[in-house]
Amino acid sequence: MLKVDGSRYVPRLEPSNYKYNYVCQTCKQAYPRKRRMNIERYRCSRCGGRLMLED
Ligand SMILES: [Zn+2]
Repeated sequence: MLKVDGSRYVPRLEPSNYKYNYVCQTCKQAYPRKRRMNIERYRCSRCGGRLMLED
C-alpha cells in the first residue's frame, strides 16, 4: 500500500512561486503576487472590490 506521510500531498493549486496571496473581499478572486503591493491602491479587476492579504 501507499505510505501516507502527508508531505506528498501538497495541494496542487497552491502557487509556491508566489509569496503573497491577495484575495478579493467580495468575490474571492485570488491575486497571487511575488511582491507586495499596496492594497489601498489596487482593486479587484472583476468586481472592483477591495483586496486583502491572505496568509
Ligand atoms: Zn472581486
